[in-house]
Amino acid sequence: MDTRRLLILDDDPAVGQTIELIARASGFETRFTQDPAEFFQFVLQWSPHYLAIDLVMPQMDGVEVLAKLAEMQCQCKIIITSGVGHRILDAAGRSASERGLKIAGVLSKPFMPSTLRELLGEARNDANLGARSYSAANDQQAITATDLREALDTHRFFTVFQPKIQCNDRTLKGFEALLRWDHPERGLIPPDRFIPVAEKLGLIGELTERVFDLSFDWFAAHFAQADLRLSVNISARTVMNEAFVESIINRCQRLGLRPDQIICELTETSAMEDPVASLDSLTRLRMRGVHLSIDDLGTGFSSLLQLVRLPFSELKVDKSFVISAGHSSESRQVIKAIVGLGSSLGLITTAEGVEDADTLRFLQETGCNLAQGFYIARPMLGPDALAWARKYQGGTGRPVKP
Ligand code: C2E
Ligand code: MG
Ligand code: MG
Repeated sequence: MDTRRLLILDDDPAVGQTIELIARASGFETRFTQDPAEFFQFVLQWSPHYLAIDLVMPQMDGVEVLAKLAEMQCQCKIIITSGVGHRILDAAGRSASERGLKIAGVLSKPFMPSTLRELLGEARNDANLGARSYSAANDQQAITATDLREALDTHRFFTVFQPKIQCNDRTLKGFEALLRWDHPERGLIPPDRFIPVAEKLGLIGELTERVFDLSFDWFAAHFAQADLRLSVNISARTVMNEAFVESIINRCQRLGLRPDQIICELTETSAMEDPVASLDSLTRLRMRGVHLSIDDLGTGFSSLLQLVRLPFSELKVDKSFVISAGHSSESRQVIKAIVGLGSSLGLITTAEGVEDADTLRFLQETGCNLAQGFYIARPMLGPDALAWARKYQGGTGRPVKP
């Protein structure tokens, strides 16, 4: 069996040696250098299969190293390492992919040995060095950068659309686009499983663009002139990228949509990850007219301060409270409190996870603005959502049961 070779470039010997130890335990042959010149010599003479590259070094920065590797048309799988934060790591990963380099993933320092092992495990699988030996419990970790890339390239992602209605008169107000992955062997992989992996591997930006491609076109083709809005879920890491704002605005211009027909939903947890850096992008987005929603409110590391500080225009009550509203007075109290907060901050409040008529009535009485959930309609493929909307609007104005 051909031994895999991993070459490490890092200015910190402790980090380099730790990576070597972990990689060797996974069956890799390793070389470590702190010197970029020596690194390039090794690339040419030792023919490594994998490279682990520190982004920030005194003599040469990692971005330059990547640019030079791209010039050399390097075919190695690359693990980008650094302590500079996800935002920069993601940008570097994207820029490297755009230059044609093969990115195995990013390793944010300080890292857990298990994270590196995952990336190296992936590398070994990619190299066909044996059958996958992941247990069911590890299945989530078995989604690799290669899987995601292949799924993007072979168009295995698609979006479904779930309607949002107004609680008081039940009129249709818009749709939320939700991403699905139709895997040829594993079946439909839910977004909760692959979105965090895509975020970790630096592929979330590309995935978000794909969601834009799929959902904006559908929405514009049928609802550009309607008083309806399209909600898309955005990872906070996407928000860090300036290009994301322009991408939305350009799409609106090209497709004849008004920016205020678009709502970007951010999960509360991810929005809080780097609130300072988020602020500029989100403010710019709002200034262009796009709406901003805080998703899953009530879960994660909630911070009321951030809620006020970031320019949100909608609050989405997490479905865990809404689903249990029928039998839990605590959940009903939380919903009332969030609706009250939304109204005093001048924000629209939406409840997701409405599964029965009583809950919808309760939300209406509470003064919640919008509702979304299986009772109203399940997420549907574009043509089905369109047929549903026509039937719904043309009917009695009451919800059509799924
Ligand atoms: P979310 O944005 O909070 O989406 C709502 C989730 O609740 C969806 O799950 C939807 O199918 C589900 N849901 C809606 N109504 C009901 C109901 O009445 N009962 C129950 N039990 N569930 C209901 P889904 O599609 O599995 O999405 C899960 C999460 O994955 C989303 O939560 C969102 O955070 C993320 N996600 C989905 N699509 C994307 C995407 O394109 N980009 C990003 N970054 N994240 C996405
Ligand atoms: Mg959402
Ligand atoms: Mg949600």
